[in-house]
Amino acid sequence: GRPGCECNSCFSGPDCSVRIPNCAADSQGGDPLFLEPYWKRHAAASAVVFSGWHRLSYITTDGHFKSVELDSQIRRLHRAVGNAVVDDKYLVFGTGSTHLINALVYALSPEGNNAASPPASVVATVPYFAMYKSQTVMFDGREYRWDGTTAAWANNSSRNPARGFIEFVTSPNNPDSTLHEPVLAGSSAIVDHAYYWPHLTHIPAPADEEVMLFTTSKLSGHAGSRFGWALVRDEKVARRAISYIEESTVGTSRETQLRVLKILKVILANLHGKEDIFAFGYDVMSSRWRRLNAVVSRSTRISLQKMPPQYCTYFNRIKEPSPAYAWVKCEWEEDDDCYETLLAAGINSLTGTVNEAGTRYTRLSLIKTQDDFDMLLERITEFVDAEKHGR
Ligand code: PMP
Repeated sequence: GRPGCECNSCFSGPDCSVRIPNCAADSQGGDPLFLEPYWKRHAAASAVVFSGWHRLSYITTDGHFKSVELDSQIRRLHRAVGNAVVDDKYLVFGTGSTHLINALVYALSPEGNNAASPPASVVATVPYFAMYKSQTVMFDGREYRWDGTTAAWANNSSRNPARGFIEFVTSPNNPDSTLHEPVLAGSSAIVDHAYYWPHLTHIPAPADEEVMLFTTSKLSGHAGSRFGWALVRDEKVARRAISYIEESTVGTSRETQLRVLKILKVILANLHGKEDIFAFGYDVMSSRWRRLNAVVSRSTRISLQKMPPQYCTYFNRIKEPSPAYAWVKCEWEEDDDCYETLLAAGINSLTGTVNEAGTRYTRLSLIKTQDDFDMLLERITEFVDAEKHGR
């Protein structure tokens, strides 16, 4: 049971301990509730209280709507974890990293309505995070446009040499959880490191791209606080991203910044100790992956992405994989819509068509509550056990 929590769709009762019979496992969304038990263990230390008079102003001491103290704690965390080089970067805050996606596209596009420069082409590699396209298309402007996937542009001769490219790269990738690098030579890459933390991937080296994106959603699980940040090397690009943020929201919520500051302080104080959030998250996620694999490895009908053990600089050892998502492929010819195949087995997933990966693939979220995962494992086990009768 989860006293005081909202129940997931398969449980009811005051502490969510009553099972609803025959309900479908919901593994669609990316809600990072796997970290809720960690914060319950640190409930008092992570609490924040502010009075009615506190933080009324638009303006912070840096004059840019941004907490100076939070800026320095984010840099401390990256240095301590070793997952990004921060010393030569500007920091831009956003209302979730969602807010920063278009801020960075705007910032990397040709300036003004200069008729001489064609709009920048915004592209990503299949399977890509669907929001890159939906947001770019929604804000499609004179300076940039969504221009499909990298496969169409990988051959340089098909490109207009005057046209700039803005390439979204997600590493680890959503949906398939593997590390990725830019594909197009000479593109401006926006490298989304939402999942580049040691509970969700091994960390081979600090990331050091020109434009990087991070979010508390997958770091600490605080998706509802809506806080993300960009690390940007070039001052002019950072300035344009900040001006986008100021135009759209006049900066990120001050309450959110205070809460995130507290959360980061608790994380930092416990690094490498027995209450290390990454050790906690890694144990949860690697055990989920191991259990899911044990079941799926008995199947000829579905398969998962292959993930070998890898050396992690944060833990200083070789680690078993601990991905946020399972990227499922339906192998049998008759299962040409993998999402529908799983749905018929009582498992709700996210179809690969949203990533332009086709209907053979579908994504299962592994970062939700333990109840959600247990339901998923139960349904998958039934599905795999039924195989020998089903064919
Ligand atoms: N980038 C990636 C790759 C994501 O998976 C997500 C959320 N699932 C986001 C960005 C947006 O996260 P948020 O706005 O909560 O920071």
